[in-house]
Amino acid sequence: MAVLVQLTRRTQTHHRVESLLSSFCRHSFAVLRRNNMASDATTRFDFLVIGGGSGGLAGARRASELGANAAVIESHKLGGTCVNVGCVPKKVMWNAAVHAEYLHDHSDYGFDVENVRFSWETLKAKRDAYVGRLNHIYRNNLDKAKIQFIQGFARFTDDPEPTVEVDGRKYTAPHILIATGGQPSLMNDAEVPGASLGITSDGFFELETLPKRSVVVGAGYIAVEMAGILSTLGSKTSLIIRQTGVLRNFDSLISANCTKELQNSGIDLWKNSQVKSVSKTDKGLEVTLVTKDAEKNNGEEKISTIQEVDCLLWAIGRQPNTAGLNLSKTGVDTDERGHIIVDEFQNTNRSGIYALGDVCGKALLTPVAIAAGRKLAHRLFEGKKDSKLDYSSIPTVVFSHPPIGTVGLTEEEAITSWGKENLKIYKTSFTPMYHAITSRKSQCIMKLVCVGKEEKVVGLHMQGLGCDEMLQGFSVAIKMGATKADFDKTIAIHPTSSEEFVTMR
Ligand SMILES: Cc1cc2nc3c(=O)[nH]c(=O)nc-3n(C[C@H](O)[C@H](O)[C@H](O)COP(=O)(O)OP(=O)(O)OC[C@H]3O[C@@H](n4cnc5c(N)ncnc54)[C@H](O)[C@@H]3O)c2cc1C
Repeated sequence: MAVLVQLTRRTQTHHRVESLLSSFCRHSFAVLRRNNMASDATTRFDFLVIGGGSGGLAGARRASELGANAAVIESHKLGGTCVNVGCVPKKVMWNAAVHAEYLHDHSDYGFDVENVRFSWETLKAKRDAYVGRLNHIYRNNLDKAKIQFIQGFARFTDDPEPTVEVDGRKYTAPHILIATGGQPSLMNDAEVPGASLGITSDGFFELETLPKRSVVVGAGYIAVEMAGILSTLGSKTSLIIRQTGVLRNFDSLISANCTKELQNSGIDLWKNSQVKSVSKTDKGLEVTLVTKDAEKNNGEEKISTIQEVDCLLWAIGRQPNTAGLNLSKTGVDTDERGHIIVDEFQNTNRSGIYALGDVCGKALLTPVAIAAGRKLAHRLFEGKKDSKLDYSSIPTVVFSHPPIGTVGLTEEEAITSWGKENLKIYKTSFTPMYHAITSRKSQCIMKLVCVGKEEKVVGLHMQGLGCDEMLQGFSVAIKMGATKADFDKTIAIHPTSSEEFVTMR
């Protein structure tokens, strides 16, 4: 009571006192409930979340706001992939790379910028400090929401009721959420001798200095982004891809343009190539490649070696964090790659166990995991039976140089769904006005995929300066079912690149 009186004095408004009282009571009940159950050596919650990343934290916090007694188990750092080794530090590095790009244009815009020096060490120290602050904020947020934080690695036990064990202690809940994310796939030494001399995207964030010579392997967005950052910041970079283009699951216009932009920016692109072996010399790594001659059908192969490599980065995909969870003890089904199989409500096949985010292998993006976590919390703790995430038309940006923005169906997907005869494709390509007076040029390309007589916009794809920030607003329009006529009715903003989308013919 003394605590409450003190709190009452300190808080000025009635509303604040009310919210403090309710949170105090909620916490007290939670503690009581926990202590009562401690006698059976298993601590009980309403909601037990495995994984303190984007999805897990969002789900736990929303559940707590809705009155649930929640706990989060995290084996590493709070914030998960996005905060620690994903979106956040990546975007800091991309921002730095954008500075490096713009330096080339400074003299064209009248600035004298001689003797510019770049310190990777300064950038890394500031980036790490920022990430550290975020970890701290996430921890404070859990404490403020009275969510129990359990540090350690969770494994299911073989108790009849789904139960999780962390460092010898047992926890359970009627609702258990698995939001354990994923990790970079590794190439093993048996497949490619010396492969383990390379790093993954996780290792990229540990690099203490800017590598002089980098080799990035992969054609997905992480490979494209990391090769772009390294190259733009001054590392001589080769990108090794198995086929002829990057981002092959994107619209063909984006894939082709991004491949061209990578080459234009000075990245040494090895098409139809694979790493055969890696060895260590006193001057760095030696990366041996095998390249198929695409023109010759007899599969003729050429062997080449890239020498003095000080950073070999494998960006060959990601795998779900399910291996150590003892999922077999729960009977929860996974697919052949270990992703947890869920229905549209994030239910696994075992009642009371749910999964979302990267561990399910669908739309591997932070806002997707967050939204799915929140929707689930509303369903479980607010009685909103229909609360589920709509996975259609999810916008996404690739932080390449220049950036890519894409939402909805690719032209190829639209053809499969609607037939070519029912589509109208609008395309444009131009040099953004920013480059009117610069010697460095980069193109902007845009495509609208429209369906039916009413020309409903079902896909929007672009690469160019500013496309990263341009996408969100257009995604709202597309989600609302905008047609080409709606785009045309909208007055252009001049002079911008985005105005092209409302003036396409
Ligand atoms: C290099 C890179 C760049 C990216 N860039 C972007 C971007 O620009 N935009 C975007 O939207 N997305 C981006 N992503 C993807 C984004 O990071 C993920 O989609 C998102 O983090 C997934 O959230 P999640 O909650 O599913 O998993 P995670 O955020 O990975 O969280 C899972 C957590 O569970 C913990 N965990 C795992 N197993 C256990 C266990 N048994 N016990 C306890 N804890 C456990 C892990 O330590 C981790 O902290 C990027 C990813 C990478 C790798």
